[in-house]
Amino acid sequence: MKRIGLLTSGGDAPGMNAAIRAVVRTAIYYGIEVFGIERGYAGLIDDTMTQMEMRSVSDIVQRGGTKLRTARCLEMLTEEGQRQAVATLEKHGIEGLVVIGGDGSFRGAKSLTEGFGIPTIGIPGTIDNDLEYTDYTLGFDTAVNTCLDIINKLRDTMTSHERISVVEVMGRHCGDIALYAGITSGAEIIVVPEIAYNMDDIISRINRSRANGKRSNIIVIAEGVMTADAFAKQLQEMTSYSVRATTIGHIQRGGSPTMADRMLAAQFGNKAVHLLKDGIGNRVVGIHKNEIIDMDIIEAVSMKKKFNYELYETLQMISM
Ligand code: ATP
Repeated sequence: MKRIGLLTSGGDAPGMNAAIRAVVRTAIYYGIEVFGIERGYAGLIDDTMTQMEMRSVSDIVQRGGTKLRTARCLEMLTEEGQRQAVATLEKHGIEGLVVIGGDGSFRGAKSLTEGFGIPTIGIPGTIDNDLEYTDYTLGFDTAVNTCLDIINKLRDTMTSHERISVVEVMGRHCGDIALYAGITSGAEIIVVPEIAYNMDDIISRINRSRANGKRSNIIVIAEGVMTADAFAKQLQEMTSYSVRATTIGHIQRGGSPTMADRMLAAQFGNKAVHLLKDGIGNRVVGIHKNEIIDMDIIEAVSMKKKFNYELYETLQMISM
């Protein structure tokens, strides 16, 4: 393979830039040219791309966001849009494509492979950690660390006033950010889309913790359940505690990637190019049990994300 394309698509995630760098540098190492496509599939359809060199990716390993920018592109859902995307690839002699994004972006890659025979490799870049085939996605670790930083600060003020803090985190339909941030911040309760909550049980748990000498409580709620405001209102109406709501919001998408995310980015980017170089396409890369793996795109996108109930039980046991 002499020339490949690279794009970031869907929601941005810290570590995408580090992955761009790894793809570009590995490809150049092997004498493969890389074209950086701007704004995801929109740039592929509009033909907005430039050739990337060693120095195009200098000084980005530590930056959040994505240098190539990203977009959600409805045209890519249509056959006409996909044909246009393929025409752009053919025009530039691009023989393979690396797509950094979430499951929607992988479906876009799958459509190019299935419908038009373009070899594609997906790199999981999303803070949500909502892909079953990989233990971690790029950006998840950084997003959780950002949540921890904010929850630590909230704990200071909540303890001083003996309040309950309801903190809303992202994750769409997946409770992983809430689960990991909850366990590692010492939150007493997490509320996630995967498990139906019972407000009476939550109040009993808070009462017990107060009877045991706790002066504040942290409840981490995933956005897929309801807003922190709505949950705090319900709780306030049913108790005499002072309840405050905080929505972390887009802050958790930004920031310098952690070591863990930069390491994943380096390994995912490197692996993606190795696969294309060896003529292997239609795969996604990931990490499982500390090993970098690759899997068929169709198999990967059809796997249903499982919630880690064991970790949830751990939180229940250690957070009182
Ligand atoms: P995140 O998890 O951060 O939201 P994502 O990759 O899942 O990332 P989506 O908005 O679902 O984000 O998808 C990104 C883009 O991928 C879409 O805007 C669209 O261009 C393309 N895409 C999504 N689903 C399909 C599909 N079924 N066929 C072709 N292209 C698709």
